[in-house]
Amino acid sequence: MKKTSLLVAITLSIVSCKETQKKDTTIAIVNSSTITQSKNNIVIDTATVKKHLYTLAHDNMQGRKPGTEGIEKAAKYIEGEFKKIGLKPFKDLTTYRQNFEHKNIKMFNVLGVLEGKSKKDEFVIVSAHYDHLGVKESGEGDLIYNGANDDASGVVGILALAEYFAKKDSNERSILFVAFTAEEMGLIGSKYFGKNINANKFVAGINLELIGKEPKTGPKTAWLTGFDRSNFGKIIQKNLKGTGYRLFPDPYPKFNLFFRSDNASLARLGVPSHTFSTTPIDIDKDYHKTSDEAETLDVGILTETIRAVAVGTTTIINGTDTPSRVVIE
Ligand SMILES: [Zn+2]
Repeated sequence: MKKTSLLVAITLSIVSCKETQKKDTTIAIVNSSTITQSKNNIVIDTATVKKHLYTLAHDNMQGRKPGTEGIEKAAKYIEGEFKKIGLKPFKDLTTYRQNFEHKNIKMFNVLGVLEGKSKKDEFVIVSAHYDHLGVKESGEGDLIYNGANDDASGVVGILALAEYFAKKDSNERSILFVAFTAEEMGLIGSKYFGKNINANKFVAGINLELIGKEPKTGPKTAWLTGFDRSNFGKIIQKNLKGTGYRLFPDPYPKFNLFFRSDNASLARLGVPSHTFSTTPIDIDKDYHKTSDEAETLDVGILTETIRAVAVGTTTIINGTDTPSRVVIE
């Protein structure tokens, strides 16, 4: 998230080691088990989430600054996971990379499609930004901005959700998973992406940012930016009924968060695109610091957040709900 403000995402935890039955969305949550093959028994497991997090936030990613070896390494990791999951390149791209140049820096968003069934020309975008601040130019001690919460946690979310929905194999709408670049430089990657799509084909945008810490609204809660700008939040609340989780409107209106993350690039095109977060941004001591390390995050909350997004977005993904378009004055 750009320094001028902070940010947002969604949390929910599903009681681990217990099965929640909701029609065809049977989710078995067994912390250390791998994904079972059966279509109705899909696990979003903590072990996989932890592996992604510690890989993307590792010192050898050198803080994932655009134009550096670190971000190339991160992009390769994400592409490798997209390939394993079986995602397809987007539109007429031949790889997962959407290449472009900004201020003479070669940049690339990383995109993968899970094609829908009956409504495959309608897209739901699930996004996060995989760039961060790189390495401090000078100073003592730890000089690497690992960006574990900002926003490796969100990228972990899109990888785990891609695996979940691919296993579930019942999405009526197509899902586009996007790791945006250069968000910290001013939403550069998502703005470029926005210029190259037909926004009418995008029915919703789910952006994940800073989802690794417990919110001030307490466990099993989350909040959403721009809650009043579309009925997107209400649809998520409806789908979460009975799960013990509550979704709140962004509790930091003065930070103008709706416009401070990649969701804004799509929202400006009318797409009901909102950002979820779990981090108490007004008091977070690691935000944009070299101390934003994987160890400072709660992998349990991160995993529960991702599971919650999986449940919360069910009716948007299967096409029974279509959020209202966003109007920017
Ligand atoms: Zn961020």
